[in-house]
Amino acid sequence: MPRDSRYDPLFEPIQLGPVTAPNRFYQVPHCSGMGYQRPQMMAAMRGVKAEGGWGVVCTEYCSIHASSDDSPYQSASLRDADDISNLRLMTDAVHAEGALAGVELWYGGFTTPNLYSREVSMDVASLANESTQGVPVQSQAMTLDDIQAFRQMHRDAAKRALDAGFDIVYVYGNHGYLLHNFLNPYFNQRDDEYGGVAENRVRLLREVIEDVSEIVSGRAAVAVRYSIPPQFDIDPQGLIECFGYLAELPDLWDITVNDYHLEMGSSRFIKEAANQEAIAGLRALTGKPIVSVGRFTSPDTMLSQIVSGTQDMIGAARPSIADPFLPRKIEQGRLEDIRECIGCNVCYAHNSLGVPIRCTQNPTMGEEWRRGWHPERTEARHADQSVLVVGSGPAGLEAACALGQRGYRVILAEAEQELGGRINRESRLPGLAEYARVRDWRLGQLQRMVNVDIYPDNRLDVDAIAELACEHVIIATGASWRSDGVGRWRNSAFAGCDSDQVIGVEQILRGKLPEGRVVIYDDDHYYLGSAIALLASASGCQVALVSPSDSLAEWSHNTEEHRPVMRALIEAGVEFVTAKGLVGFDLGKVQLECVYSGQSSQLAADQLIPISSRVADDALWIALDQHRSELLQHGLVSLQRIGDCRAPGIIAAAVYAGHKAARELGSRQSEVKRDRVLT
Ligand code: ADP
Ligand code: SF4
Repeated sequence: MPRDSRYDPLFEPIQLGPVTAPNRFYQVPHCSGMGYQRPQMMAAMRGVKAEGGWGVVCTEYCSIHASSDDSPYQSASLRDADDISNLRLMTDAVHAEGALAGVELWYGGFTTPNLYSREVSMDVASLANESTQGVPVQSQAMTLDDIQAFRQMHRDAAKRALDAGFDIVYVYGNHGYLLHNFLNPYFNQRDDEYGGVAENRVRLLREVIEDVSEIVSGRAAVAVRYSIPPQFDIDPQGLIECFGYLAELPDLWDITVNDYHLEMGSSRFIKEAANQEAIAGLRALTGKPIVSVGRFTSPDTMLSQIVSGTQDMIGAARPSIADPFLPRKIEQGRLEDIRECIGCNVCYAHNSLGVPIRCTQNPTMGEEWRRGWHPERTEARHADQSVLVVGSGPAGLEAACALGQRGYRVILAEAEQELGGRINRESRLPGLAEYARVRDWRLGQLQRMVNVDIYPDNRLDVDAIAELACEHVIIATGASWRSDGVGRWRNSAFAGCDSDQVIGVEQILRGKLPEGRVVIYDDDHYYLGSAIALLASASGCQVALVSPSDSLAEWSHNTEEHRPVMRALIEAGVEFVTAKGLVGFDLGKVQLECVYSGQSSQLAADQLIPISSRVADDALWIALDQHRSELLQHGLVSLQRIGDCRAPGIIAAAVYAGHKAARELGSRQSEVKRDRVLT
């Protein structure tokens, strides 16, 4: 189907200095957990995005010197000839699809402790390291000689960027890295020509833009990543005034707001196009093209940004991860096929853990090279055979979808009336509505597949499965939350776990509201504890949230949700108790134990909600396994269990398991290649 002509403005080419982007879809630099250590993986991933229609595809942050080392996180690198050949893989892959390739030159400063290189960071001043690791070291305050050396690093890196084939070269002026810190009077208290008034604070950024422009002149565009205050009139760093000295210098402005929690906020707290009001404020201050992100997934919202002139290009990181083919789908009039990002930040979390990113919605993310998976193409079925998928949670839905795409005859059976499994229940919790996209996209795809039959309200047992006589059976029956407190901190049930006033997570997820004084014991450490605390608080309960860890919702540090989660809990009046394990519940008292000293304490509670771990709902799998030889004699070819009924985990793991099972049906397990730095 041809595209709706309304969307034509999204497909107009645009001049960026000496280069022309073929359309308005711009994959901004985003971390991938691949970087210089996994160059082939990175090149394949970026190449797929170019194939999917992104007119510009950028690297992640790209180190220009050993003293800018973000280990254990993976950055790209442009420090020597090997880096040039590694990044050539990426520019070649992007160019092969007719897109432009951009590189984000990066020098960290005091935020990078240089754990691998053991070099000393330099920055505007001698500042205490502010990395996640909180390393007790400081940066070296830059002398005027250091400033000249820093400028030279950029010139050298810009030359290498040209040698590597980049069309757009970034100067990185935000996100709390060195150049940003010069702008910020909070850090910049220098008394030389680089400190004091805005004109001085902006001097180094201006010089570096001029240096890089001189080097790449006529061969590549210069982009500057820069932040503006979320509210124009509240500008403690003087960022708007500084912008005034730079406004017409680069070929492209990549603008974000100066609050990472807004820019990169999870959907629990931040919705689509949340930053665009601020971006609109900047429009009148520059004649140069602007690109900006806003977790855009709606073509109409994208269009309105371009038509209104707020920005000239649609910046995207997460939407391009969730659907590398988003532009192509708009171009082909296939809007219903767009796989929308759910804003869970699981991608970011894995970069934070120092490993390649993955995506809840797109199970092929990170597997383009490693397993050879393409987001839009799978191998045709290996034989004219049928597959029964039991359970329609994220694992079952994804398996059915990918098997349907391969051309098998698929039966998807679900015990409940509503398809979706855990997604149905969790997406009703406060802030988690966008998680329903995991279910809705797959249902939308399945409903259009003539080779897939869906049977809701059908709880299958061994006899029913035998009767259906499918060649392949995939069990995806999920898992259930325990209510006995067994989890990371304790390995046996707590005393009093069978009390009527112990409310299980499953009851809450199925609509039961807690009452009175409620203690929520969170030994899961992800989103459920805080989401249920906010639900209980909104229904009038007095809530205490208890964790055996030193901090609440600890894993949400990785997804950049921790700060907004804590703020929301504080605003809701939730009491916090940390480093306490659950021991028992009796007579309106929750018995706790200090995880360090063993000291006992009590908390008054009418009800207790323990959130600890889950039990696989694998009874059907076990029964089938026991009958495996009979079933094999009657035509069964393969039987497997996937997702939470095999090993409970996050939604992304279930989707991945479903996809993997579908890809590998009829063939041996796909190889997990190990990437190596090329020389
Ligand atoms: P996952 O995350 O692994 O996909 P979920 O718990 O989200 O798991 O989904 C499992 C689904 O399987 C639930 O919707 C549940 O109702 C369904 N289910 C469980 N047992 C059966 C069964 N015997 N027959 C059909 N569906 C089942
Ligand atoms: Fe979006 Fe979540 Fe995928 Fe990241 S992991 S791109 S936030 S759906």
